[in-house]
Parts: sequence; C-alpha cells; structure tokens
Amino acid sequence: MKFDGLIGNNGVKKTLEKPFHAYIIHGPKGSGKHTLEKILTASFVCESDEKPCGKCSQCKKYLSGNHVDVMYIPTDIKVGILREKLKDASYLPNEAEHRVFVFYEAEKLTPACQNALLKIVEEPPSHAVFIFLTENTGAILSTLRSRCEMIAMEPVDDREIYKYLLRPEFSKISDEQKKAAVAFSGGYIGAACSFLSNEKSELLVKCDRFARAIINNRMDEALRIASFKDRNELVLFTDELYSYFTVHLRSLKSGNVDGLNSEIQSLGPDRLALLCIKLASLKDKMKFNVNVSLFSTALIAECQSICQNDQIS
Ligand SMILES: [Zn+2]
Repeated sequence: MKFDGLIGNNGVKKTLEKPFHAYIIHGPKGSGKHTLEKILTASFVCESDEKPCGKCSQCKKYLSGNHVDVMYIPTDIKVGILREKLKDASYLPNEAEHRVFVFYEAEKLTPACQNALLKIVEEPPSHAVFIFLTENTGAILSTLRSRCEMIAMEPVDDREIYKYLLRPEFSKISDEQKKAAVAFSGGYIGAACSFLSNEKSELLVKCDRFARAIINNRMDEALRIASFKDRNELVLFTDELYSYFTVHLRSLKSGNVDGLNSEIQSLGPDRLALLCIKLASLKDKMKFNVNVSLFSTALIAECQSICQNDQIS
C-alpha cells in the first residue's frame, strides 16, 4: 500500500500490509487518523496494482467525494436507520471491489448501534470493510474492539514535524512559532498545525500571560485573564493551561527547551509537576457542575500558592 501524506507511523504501515475487514483507527486529535482513513478507504476501491494510485477512475470518484461504494455514516445515527444502511453491506459493490463503511467519532455510537454492527463485523461478506475512527477506544464495546484490527496512530519525531513546518504553506510563520508548535504538538503533525491556527494561538497566548502574571505576583491581571462568562471557555482554558505546563515540564526534563518560555522553565521541575497534578485534579472536578467565577478564583489561588512557595525547589 502507498502511504503518501502519512508521515512516520512505520508500525501502522507495517500492520496494514496485511488486509483485514474491520479497523479501529485511534489516537488523539491531530494524530493523522483522517489522513490514514482516506488512504485506507481509497486503497479498498482503487483498481490499480499499487494502491491507492490516486489516478484510476475509482480513486478519482472517491477523491471527488462521490464514490457509490463508500459510505460515511454519521455516528449519532438511530439504531433502526443504521440497520437499514447495513443491509447494503450484503449486496455486492456497484463498481469497486469493496464496499467501505466509515464511522468518524465512533465513540458516539450508542451500545445498541455497536451491537448492530457487531453482528456484521463478526461475519462480514467478503467485500465489506468497516473503518472506525475514535479518540477514545474505551467507549467502544470490547466485543466490537476484539473483532477489529486496532490501529494506534504513532507520535512522530520532533525533527520530522519541524521539517514538515518548513513547507511553503508555513512560510509566513516565524521560526520561533514553529519551534513552539513542535514543542506543543505532542508528536502529532495535525496538533502542530492546529497550534499555528489563530484560535489555538490565542488560547496559548492567554495561558502564557496568565502564567507570567502568577509568577510575578500580578493577581489582578491573572484574575482578568481567567475571568470567563461561561463554563465552556473555562474548561478550554484549564485544559490548555494543563498542557502548557505539561509541555514545559516534559521539555525541561528532556533538556529540549527550544521555543518555550524561559520564565516558566525557571519554576523548576518540582513546581511544574505540582502545577500539572493540581490542574489535572481541577480538570476532573470540572466534570461536575461548578460555579464559574468561584472556580476561576480557586484556580488562581492554587497556581499562586505553588508558584510562590519558596519551600519547593
Ligand atoms: Zn486508484
């Protein structure tokens, strides 16, 4: 199989050399699940020897988004409608060698839907292929999981990600930003790209300003930054702040501090570790209904007490 566009992931590529009829592609946001799914789906409809060729009539139909034998099924589907759609699986494909059924965000499938799928995944017609994508394999029934080939997206080497960011489409981005994107990518190209998108950058700038305000004991500023009207914004901010400190801690330990804030590094590993632990537990508490302004105040107080504690090295 040809894997144009999928960087790294050598283990995944090796696993896919042997064809199977059902796959669960899993990994965090930005890890390349969709890139891989498109390659895999195209390879099941492609009629060339080296699949997917991207040039044959089947590949072209698929790439233009209207291949009659490829079905993208919404995962908020009702079980009755899903059963109807799955009837198609037993018919021979119209044009290609296979009929491919793809499910994005498979964790959203209800147990009833997953059970309906289980039957057909267990004894599939030879031409049917099922591809599930998810960030959370825990939400997939173990009975269904055990009948699928599990494909875990692999993190890519930092140098590979940096090399990717040297492509012309990133020419307007400064080297400093690229290095920060690599540091915050967690090894995933999609995550590095999303870091460079405006929305993510804004949130990150916010975390950066917040952390500096706390370190320098500017509590009014910290409070201004962490004041949110709704719970959702607060959840996103807390999540981002957690990954902000995690990345600094990880980089400090590995000695690779390119593109990161030296003021935050100066907190040292112990304080950074404590901040991560504290934020992880705050993130947990947010699963319950919380009062947004009380929670912001608690968040600031916790961070302040760790950053300003001279007892911690
Ligand atoms: Zn082809």
